[in-house]
Amino acid sequence: MFEMLKARFFQGYRTGKFPPAAPNLPDHFCGRPQVEAHADIEAARALCPTHAWCEKAGAPAIDTGKCIFCGKCAACGVTFTREYRMAAMTREKLFADASPYTPEEQLDRGIRKMCGHSLKIRQVSAGGCAACELDFNVLNTLAWDMGRFGIQAVASPRHADAILVTGPVSRNMLLALKKTYEAMPKPCWVIASGACAVSGGIYAESPDVAGPVDKILPVDLYVPGCPPHPAVLLEALLRFIGRM
Ligand code: SF4
Ligand code: SF4
Repeated sequence: MFEMLKARFFQGYRTGKFPPAAPNLPDHFCGRPQVEAHADIEAARALCPTHAWCEKAGAPAIDTGKCIFCGKCAACGVTFTREYRMAAMTREKLFADASPYTPEEQLDRGIRKMCGHSLKIRQVSAGGCAACELDFNVLNTLAWDMGRFGIQAVASPRHADAILVTGPVSRNMLLALKKTYEAMPKPCWVIASGACAVSGGIYAESPDVAGPVDKILPVDLYVPGCPPHPAVLLEALLRFIGRM
């Protein structure tokens, strides 16, 4: 018993300080891209495996909902910043051009009023490679401990405020996803997490894909990444419920 207490004492407090401190991101972390003035757009377009290049107000931009953050276009004049606040409540807000990003405010007071102190999430894995689910699970660990903000994963959709979908929604998962949504008490919210859920990602052109999620359900929060880093996802969830 004494040994256990001693070990616990020396371990100290292991949960990260984010927030309020900035998250501890790895050196290789690729945050929100920024298209530089000298960027070779045609070369970058040709390299991009997910056709993530688009236009924003007539200027070239990267659709971070499609981007898998492979970093290939860095050689063509795209800078990957350390900006981890990348989630958005509208699809267009995910388009990254040359301008720095300003995280949008949580405008829906209804969400804050209903979920400001607690958000129960039912996670649905709708295809994909499972890395997005793993990084959501990481938020439950000691290092991130999302439970301290009242955010919890629940086993039943009947107990959930929100559904967090990962994967491109394979045809095999279409019915299960719809049934899960129908089983949730309303109002409820839909979170698309990861490039696959937001846009189809690397599976977008597969005939076995019925998604992306917003083709099937009304999405309230889009979280880019492949997979989204836990800091990206936690910041998104906290901002969504008005706690950032
Ligand atoms: S980092 Fe994104 S935009 Fe650049 S090549 Fe990879 S997928 Fe395409
Ligand atoms: S977005 Fe990337 S990490 Fe997530 S399921 Fe799709 S391929 Fe896997």
